[in-house]
Amino acid sequence: MLTITLKSGKEKSLLRRHPWIFPTAIERVEGKPEEKTKSGVTALIQSASGQFLARAAFSPQSQIRARVWTFNDAEPIDHAMIKRRIKNAVAYRTASVRDTNAIRLVFGEADGFPGLVVDWYAGTQGHLVCQFQSAGVELWKKAIVQALIAETGCPNVYERSDASVREREGLPLVTGVLAGTEPGEETPVTENGVHYAVDIKTGHKTGFYIDQRDNRKLVMDHASGRDVLNCFCYTGGFSLAALKGDANSVISIDSSGDALAVGRRNMALNGFDETRAEWWDADVFKSLRALREQGKTFDLIILDPPKFAASPQHVERAARAYKDINLLGLQLLRGNGLLFTYSCSGAISADLFHKIIAGAANDAGVDARILRRLSAGIDHPMTTSFPEGEYLKGLLLQKI
Ligand code: SAH
Repeated sequence: MLTITLKSGKEKSLLRRHPWIFPTAIERVEGKPEEKTKSGVTALIQSASGQFLARAAFSPQSQIRARVWTFNDAEPIDHAMIKRRIKNAVAYRTASVRDTNAIRLVFGEADGFPGLVVDWYAGTQGHLVCQFQSAGVELWKKAIVQALIAETGCPNVYERSDASVREREGLPLVTGVLAGTEPGEETPVTENGVHYAVDIKTGHKTGFYIDQRDNRKLVMDHASGRDVLNCFCYTGGFSLAALKGDANSVISIDSSGDALAVGRRNMALNGFDETRAEWWDADVFKSLRALREQGKTFDLIILDPPKFAASPQHVERAARAYKDINLLGLQLLRGNGLLFTYSCSGAISADLFHKIIAGAANDAGVDARILRRLSAGIDHPMTTSFPEGEYLKGLLLQKI
């Protein structure tokens, strides 16, 4: 078996159960020549003194040189492990996720599958959509797909391994059918009574922002009679939730015409009164300023932008952008109005996000209070030892 021996002292993060091993921590890699270049092969990780630390998937081309499968010496990496972990992942979602047929079934490290994402749309007649984003899960792809079909009873599996992180693992970008039928252009899902059309083949991520389910529900519950502004609306997830919650009016802004077109179709799918909604194909930064100049105000504003900080070196610039939109958002709120504000940048911690928002309120000259801290839904768990897993964080603020 491939054996990776760490430098003296470099076992500390593994002893704290952090699941990644970087090249700088490695003293030597021993094994057969073909193993030493094989992407995804299982490696035994040991300390400089020869103590067992973990079994991990080796990724010879990646800056994350190995990702831990198990810290348990007694657990082999085999088909039984794959099946067991998929079974657990499915059982947990089945027990805890309600009122939707759009579910994150597997979420990377927290489900024991580093680099694997599986979303399940529309039940057994629908589709499982997978992203294999690391060498280990790529090598075990067939076994994972078989286990998914067996545990869910859904025969249709589609691959969306087209995220650029795969390139960092030396893996090509691929999409296509892994089992069963190909998804159509729109897969209909229903979440908390709202119908959405999901474009599995070309939509963002696997087609839908499943992670915002609880937050859409929260918006729905607070929307009645209110004038709503939804910034970075994509296909209108929050907008539709607000309309379902009897919002008085909803303005949705995004710079993608295609996404807005799906948003409008989603509105028709639900039979909502179209006169209550406007869809603006525009830049949010400019629109917020224009609205301020026009003296427009709203009762409820949602700011759910794209990942402004793609990596830690972008944090400062990202912080300025978050501050900018939140400052404008707070100014556009009426008294007692609500701001639902989010960051999906893993490099921005919840604490830092909180500080940025406090700075925005201060500079806007606005008093606001935090009603709730927000996060992704229960089907997006994170491991206790892996803070990188907490990418989505938000705050529900009320202007005083
Ligand atoms: N809130 C959405 C997801 C947002 S994804 C949901 O719940 O489904 C980020 C969106 O921001 C994308 O649709 C992208 O087109 C849009 N976007 C990125 N930069 C923008 C800008 N400067 N102005 C307007 N939209 C922008």
